[in-house]
Amino acid sequence: MANMKVEYIPIARRLDGSYIQLTKMTVGSGSPRLFLGASIHGDELTPIAVLWRLVEYLKVAEVRGSLIMLMGMNPEGIAFGTRYEPYFKVDMNRVYPGSGDGILPRRIANVVFEIARESDVAVDIHTSGDCIPYILVDPVGGEIRERIMEYAGSMGVTVLDEYEEEQYRAERLGESLPPKLIEENVPAFTLELPGGVNIDWTGVNVGYKAIINLMVKLGMVDTSPVSIDEYPVIGEKGYRRHDVRSSSAGIIEPYVKLGEYVEKFTPLGVIRDLRGVILEWVRCEKSGYVVAMPRRSVVYPADRVFLMAVKD
Ligand SMILES: [Zn+2]
Repeated sequence: MANMKVEYIPIARRLDGSYIQLTKMTVGSGSPRLFLGASIHGDELTPIAVLWRLVEYLKVAEVRGSLIMLMGMNPEGIAFGTRYEPYFKVDMNRVYPGSGDGILPRRIANVVFEIARESDVAVDIHTSGDCIPYILVDPVGGEIRERIMEYAGSMGVTVLDEYEEEQYRAERLGESLPPKLIEENVPAFTLELPGGVNIDWTGVNVGYKAIINLMVKLGMVDTSPVSIDEYPVIGEKGYRRHDVRSSSAGIIEPYVKLGEYVEKFTPLGVIRDLRGVILEWVRCEKSGYVVAMPRRSVVYPADRVFLMAVKD
């Protein structure tokens, strides 16, 4: 059994004097050092249970190197079920590297960043609703991209490139954790699992197995890679994530399934008004795979309704 250490890192005080703190668990010691961050978005809970399961496994396994885990990086957001840091309503995955003397969300981001930058590989774990599990790789070239692709590719789930450049910039994804770590020469990427405010327990299994596969790749555990067959896997490389938006609000009926390949302009679903009159056929202008389904049956005007994997 590997040695385990739990630390509570105080960030700031609440008005009752108690601490807002991060829970850090370290298993093993030395290199390689694998960083795992869970739930910087407080309404994405599946990753926390993935870390619990890893801890259970590591109680009975030998581990080489160390696993550094932040067990819920947005504790107040988790408590309130919100994506944001609730006091300042800030998306903490858009303020990295943060700052030690900034407002609360920037301080939390800074603590996360300083811990993660000491690692050899970093995985930031999120959820993406009703989705296939997938890895997002930030736009970066050269040798570090090769290392990222090698690690990501070992995990047994779909690997996608990020949004096209304009949207990547507009959504300030360059200020999320992985690209800021890549600037520090740490291979880092995002793992998206099924679920949200409700933990998807099949997604937990998948996330757990994917991390074990990465640990096998890093030589941290003596076991064989495990196959992931709970969800479809897009084996082909070179796909990127792409939003399909609606124009109309209404109630959506999907016509496609997760992981399905759909030719361009084929209807992905239909949006109706309250009487049932068809307002819109939702289509993607590119052929590709269905990565995530609509989050709700009610679609907002000009909403993101499907996430696809497409090629240019
Ligand atoms: Zn997220």
